[in-house]
Amino acid sequence: MLKNCRMNMEASFLDKLQRSGRLEAEEYKSLLFSRDRETVLSLHAMARERTLAEFGHSVYLRGLLEISNICRNDCLYCGIRRSNGNIRRYRLTGTRIMDSCRKAYRSGFRTFVLQGGELGPDAVRWITEITSEIRRTFPDCAITLSLGEYEDSVYAEFRDAGADRYLLRHETSDPRHYARLHPEGMSLAHRMYCLDVLKRLGFQTGTGIMVASPYQTADDIVGDILFIGKFRPEMIGLGPFIPHKDTIFADYWDRGQSLLDDMSVRDAALELTLRLISIFRLMFPRALIPASTALATIAPDGRERGILAGANVIMPNITPPSVRDDYALYDCKLSSGAESAEGLRELAAGLERIGYVISWDRGDFRYE
Ligand code: SF4
Repeated sequence: MLKNCRMNMEASFLDKLQRSGRLEAEEYKSLLFSRDRETVLSLHAMARERTLAEFGHSVYLRGLLEISNICRNDCLYCGIRRSNGNIRRYRLTGTRIMDSCRKAYRSGFRTFVLQGGELGPDAVRWITEITSEIRRTFPDCAITLSLGEYEDSVYAEFRDAGADRYLLRHETSDPRHYARLHPEGMSLAHRMYCLDVLKRLGFQTGTGIMVASPYQTADDIVGDILFIGKFRPEMIGLGPFIPHKDTIFADYWDRGQSLLDDMSVRDAALELTLRLISIFRLMFPRALIPASTALATIAPDGRERGILAGANVIMPNITPPSVRDDYALYDCKLSSGAESAEGLRELAAGLERIGYVISWDRGDFRYE
């Protein structure tokens, strides 16, 4: 009886989300942590239908170029954080970056995502010059930067140099949670400030979270949904938390607390990421939502499940193979096979199996 009552409520929340694109906090929580398989399947089906209505069966591809693994920050969960002495550091030369872009362009890519650790003021000129050169050489391509926090004037320089989009995941919107994942000196308030600046400057802006990260609570994730609902990012990045061996969270999957009581910590991270993709798709029908590399890493069919849950972007790795393994944000991060530019045929075949095709369009999106 109680179960039927809960299922009816969840069905009404689903209906409301589909119709209005918005729910109250407790309603999001009820859907996200539902124990009813039918509810979850309906959530994914609705999100999938909405994605098909907006984008058809096309999935946008972005070329992910990891330009440097040097970072001035020390986020406690991150494999390339400053204090990790067990990795080989690199910063690609301009020539190697341009060669990678040329090769990717020939394969069909029309968006380059330049990602790296936060290098700080000394690197501003280098970033600006390389952005300008890509803009000059490939005027028909979109340039996305994902390089961390900078001053307002620096973001403006990046914009003037030709960058169209900026990704800066806030990771968690709860200051208490943020403080447990980051060292003193890093502040959530500043990250949020940066996101506002990026929007104000006219970047297509992306943010997002690590799902099922250490110390994260159900209410934290609901807080993230509410924050993203208000912020209205053009891109929403959601990755399941995956531990890195050189961090204090190396054994988190073994000792952490699962957010779904019938699943392991790891399985809950995957499951909640998929549910969040669907919820955000219903909230933001036109948003760019990747089926992330972390999703493909945590499960062999993670990428395809992400697409079927409502994601519409995949970001194959176009970084020179000789340094790819050095950009290890977490353990076993995929950078070959269908996650790489060389594996496009494999990627296309995987998409075809679930009825989708690659789109080489830039796939720009802006709110009215
Ligand atoms: S998460 Fe980003 S900012 Fe933090 S240490 Fe890693 S690369 Fe640097």
